[in-house]
Amino acid sequence: MINRRNLISLGSAALSTGLVGAPAAAWSKAFVGHEPRALALHNLHTGEHISVTYFQGGKYLHTALSKVNHFLRDFRTGQVHQIQPGLLDVLHQLSAKLETGQPFQVISGYRSPKTNARLARSGSGVAHHSLHMQGKAIDIRAPGIELSDLRDAAKGLGRGGVGYYPGSDFVHVDIGPVRHWELEAHADHGEG
Ligand SMILES: [Zn+2]
Repeated sequence: MINRRNLISLGSAALSTGLVGAPAAAWSKAFVGHEPRALALHNLHTGEHISVTYFQGGKYLHTALSKVNHFLRDFRTGQVHQIQPGLLDVLHQLSAKLETGQPFQVISGYRSPKTNARLARSGSGVAHHSLHMQGKAIDIRAPGIELSDLRDAAKGLGRGGVGYYPGSDFVHVDIGPVRHWELEAHADHGEG
């Protein structure tokens, strides 16, 4: 008997074979399909874990997306905001590319305007118009994966912004315009 987890692993393995290092367009094209897409995340601030199939049968699953929205809420205020499914697709692709069986650890998902303004004022390198406020950005690390490898894999997807924060041990990934940056060590003690 083949359970869903095995099916997803097989799908990921098949997709990643021969595609690591391929041009971003080829990589993205491989995901325009009906294969189920799943995600496993561990929220370091709340201690919560989530493991969901959020896309199946050619469509995003509303209940699963709602669970993810709640999981990635602003933990400081409790506010829940829609997380763009495209961001989940980036994480799903990253997971397949890295072939990590471990959940991503989440440092920051949605940030309310109030929380973002507070962090921006504190000089922790947070942008005033952060994509975290639109549910289009996430700060993560991947257990067992070098932070620089996570950064390179994210950049290799060619899907959006990638910020490297070695001092705080996370990579910022968003689905805004494609761009890359690294935060200077001296200012690097917060959330990007
Ligand atoms: Zn960030």
